[in-house]
Amino acid sequence: MDKKKVDTIIVGGGFAGLFLAYQLLSRKCSFVLFSDHKTGASLISAGVVNPVILKKFSIFPEGGKQLACLAQVLGGMESILQEKIKVTEPVYRIFHSEKEKEIWIKKSSQKELQPFLSTTFSHFEGIENPFGCGKVFGSFRIEVEVLITKMKEYLEKRGCLIREKFEYRKLRKSEYENIKCQRIIFAEGIGVKKNPFFGDLPVIPNKGHKIGVRFLEQDFALKKTIKKKHFLFPLNASQYYYGGTYDRDNISAGVDCDALEELKKSLKEITEIPYIIENRGVAHRPTVLDRKPILGRHKNEPHLYILNGLGTRGILNAAYYSSMLIDFIEKGMSLPKEVSVDRFMVEEYTSKR
Ligand SMILES: Cc1cc2nc3c(=O)[nH]c(=O)nc-3n(C[C@H](O)[C@H](O)[C@H](O)COP(=O)(O)OP(=O)(O)OC[C@H]3O[C@@H](n4cnc5c(N)ncnc54)[C@H](O)[C@@H]3O)c2cc1C
Repeated sequence: MDKKKVDTIIVGGGFAGLFLAYQLLSRKCSFVLFSDHKTGASLISAGVVNPVILKKFSIFPEGGKQLACLAQVLGGMESILQEKIKVTEPVYRIFHSEKEKEIWIKKSSQKELQPFLSTTFSHFEGIENPFGCGKVFGSFRIEVEVLITKMKEYLEKRGCLIREKFEYRKLRKSEYENIKCQRIIFAEGIGVKKNPFFGDLPVIPNKGHKIGVRFLEQDFALKKTIKKKHFLFPLNASQYYYGGTYDRDNISAGVDCDALEELKKSLKEITEIPYIIENRGVAHRPTVLDRKPILGRHKNEPHLYILNGLGTRGILNAAYYSSMLIDFIEKGMSLPKEVSVDRFMVEEYTSKR
């Protein structure tokens, strides 16, 4: 049987894999993407895109550049998928106290934060916000399920999607069963722990829970995306998303009662309106201690690449660093040291391979 020839195999169908696929589509490069049937972090995520760190009211480096890159990528995706992905509802941060509001006001006069922090405040009916809410300009949300399901359908129609687990043991250099490729890009999120080539990288699971809730009061109709401890926003006419929790180094797979209690307790601080939990979701964010993603080429196996460690800002990171990785591969552009996989590919690591 003739082998199918593609430039690239992508492993993983979360934000990392799908944004890589978009980059390859837009550059007209051939590829197939392997996606297993497990629910990864992307599908559980709130889909919030936010240039401001809302715990400390600070900005992260590259925030502006990343937003611009994501805007371009989402525009391109909406155009090929003929679907609306971007929801232009900004994030409103509920202040915990008058003091916190004062910190916000002070920070909003700083040059780098000025474009993002509002100087007027909102009060919303039906929720507890005695100190008001600050608005984050430039923030928005994406329709996570639409992006993931429609992007996969699009790839499937073009013969670029294989809905199967990629079995590492079947890889023979750059051949995988009947597929011959020039390179493989691994983008398996926390699944990288089982990867024989990149499994020793310090990707740390950070377990997150979310709930889908229906409020039992007809009049409750919050249309905004709000955040106190976690994000609350309407998914549709009857259901709201509330989440997600953080639990570092918890590798267990199931729903944890503690995390659900935390969600219930913190939701009670926003509203006393009774609700029912219609669904629960749990997944592990792939995080790195230095809070930087990991991308680049394997030191000893130059046809193997990685994009991982997207952390809490999976959407911004996926858009920005997938483009950077493909520029590195296709155009030979260099990778910044602080995100390159080389920072972990020291002798001790590579000698084990
Ligand atoms: C509760 C929660 C809320 C979040 N909210 C936000 C948010 O609002 N905004 C934001 O930007 N980020 C958010 N994040 C973080 C974001 O979801 C992650 O950074 C991002 O999803 C990581 O994407 P990924 O593609 O690297 O991993 P994943 O989404 O986990 O995708 C990897 C996929 O690869 C598959 N896979 C693994 N191994 C194989 C294999 N051998 N063969 C085939 N497939 C394989 C996995 O099953 C998985 O589906 C949130 C995360 C959680 C848990």
